[in-house]
Amino acid sequence: MKVCLNYHNLGYNPQFGINKVHPIIFKNHIDICNDFNSNKNIDLTITFDDAYEGIFTFARKILNKSSIKRKIVFPIVDYIGKNNTWDSAFYLNKYKHLSRDQIKILVSEGWEIGSHTCTHKYLGRLNNDEIRSELVISKQKLEEIINNKVTSFAPPYGIIDKRVLEISKSVGYKEIFIQKNKNVVYSDSILLVERNNIYSIDRNKNIINKINNSRLEKKKENFISSLNVITR
Ligand SMILES: [Zn+2]
Repeated sequence: MKVCLNYHNLGYNPQFGINKVHPIIFKNHIDICNDFNSNKNIDLTITFDDAYEGIFTFARKILNKSSIKRKIVFPIVDYIGKNNTWDSAFYLNKYKHLSRDQIKILVSEGWEIGSHTCTHKYLGRLNNDEIRSELVISKQKLEEIINNKVTSFAPPYGIIDKRVLEISKSVGYKEIFIQKNKNVVYSDSILLVERNNIYSIDRNKNIINKINNSRLEKKKENFISSLNVITR
């Protein structure tokens, strides 16, 4: 069984919203994942959207010591090494994104890098040329940083439609990481990976339920992501 858990930021101080997970809570989550890895036949991937510096400060050590094989970070390419001024909640939650050097270090430690576009715009509202440029330029810039191919893509807000999917395929992406239970459009020649979003309110039992695909967790995630749609 394949399971993918998706995080955003990590850090000690509480913030406005639920996207920042406390490092001790994160460590507990990864302990649960390690237990699943050693006791059940499960293939766990951990991903991080937006590429905040908190990944380097807190998640790096914990994950490098864990049994999680696939760890993927999806930077917003125009904001590498900069503050999160793209975020509408920036004045409440000011954070730095990973720098080029930090991304290179993660890659040298076995982490993967994928695109989360250049600017974090909702792609469904852009025209085809704008979508293509978000996808192509972010891919090229990341490939230049890591000196390797970038074939994974996570659309902002976890949503993809048929148009964005076709363009992603045509510019060379092989795997698309979306949010579970969002309008999924399937395609033969591209792999869609459905992810569970993890929030600061999630405790060990929520992680177990998410890995076990519980209906209640699905409902909760759908509700939270419907709030995201309002703010985007
Ligand atoms: Zn994002």
